[in-house]
Amino acid sequence: MNFGYREVCLDHDTGERHPESPDRLRAVRRALKECHGVDYVDAADADLDVVREVHDADYVEEFREYCEDGGGHWDADTVAVEATWDAALASAGLAVWAAESAGVDVRARETPFALGRPPGHHAVGDDAMGFCFINNAGVAAQAALNQGADSVAIFDWDVHHGNGTQDIFYDRSDVFYASIHEDGLFPGTGDIDETGVGDGEGANVNVVYQPGADTADYLAAIDEVIAPEIADYDPDLLLVSAGFDAHEHDPISRMRVSTEGYGVMTERMVDLADDCDAGLGFVLEGGYGLDTLSDSIKMVHEVFDGYQPVAPDDGVSEDAREVLDEVAAQGFGSK
Ligand SMILES: [Zn+2]
Repeated sequence: MNFGYREVCLDHDTGERHPESPDRLRAVRRALKECHGVDYVDAADADLDVVREVHDADYVEEFREYCEDGGGHWDADTVAVEATWDAALASAGLAVWAAESAGVDVRARETPFALGRPPGHHAVGDDAMGFCFINNAGVAAQAALNQGADSVAIFDWDVHHGNGTQDIFYDRSDVFYASIHEDGLFPGTGDIDETGVGDGEGANVNVVYQPGADTADYLAAIDEVIAPEIADYDPDLLLVSAGFDAHEHDPISRMRVSTEGYGVMTERMVDLADDCDAGLGFVLEGGYGLDTLSDSIKMVHEVFDGYQPVAPDDGVSEDAREVLDEVAAQGFGSK
């Protein structure tokens, strides 16, 4: 793969013992050293005009001034230093790069993966939260639309609900948002009946699983609901909000997706983008075990290097089946 990466993203210093630390990117870079076909690509900062299309101008200015004044605790979890402004614009710029360089040859070794931080999917239109300041995938989707795409789908497999991305596009039909997340975790949004409003009605899908959902459950959500819905939506671009905190050994969740599972999910995304003749790009969100994060990203990369991951042969759990039935009752899923 081509990995978008900028050193300035390491300067966003969240302090000791914060799970979202620069060590995450260092660990990923170290792991990718062992792989064939890894290329790093630089990218420009996100264009502030595009950032202001997905975030309120007043919030963007407040965030800029907050960093200029040295930063601090924006809230209990969300920490900024002076360099956070530059890191956030770089991180969003990397996501824009991923959108721009997502070619329709979705199996290509050049498929883009933006390795930025701070992450983005909790940043709502007018506020930072959950370690996120600028909604990277949201800015990337908006940039793609501005450059002529008719529609963009964002599939968010991070273990948390991407409330920010949902919030930004909730009443819009040009961006489809789908998420699988763990019930009871931060930020508590993302109920199954949150399906969009106005023009956005039906363009927002939430699969809320109980703790313990595994790879087979994730694949069932993709195969029965998310892939058919996105195929029906037929986007020009498919962005994966790729967090790896649903990993079975991630320290902050209780989901049980395996490293191999991320490979199988990646293949599903390749097939889906292929079906839609859409570009495919990946944007890093969470993932807090340094080994599980880097092994999982390595797995995503290996799929584009020819590795064929093996899907588990166990079926969907009873808990997950109930959830998928509820999602189907909203009118979503294979028709
Ligand atoms: Zn997360």
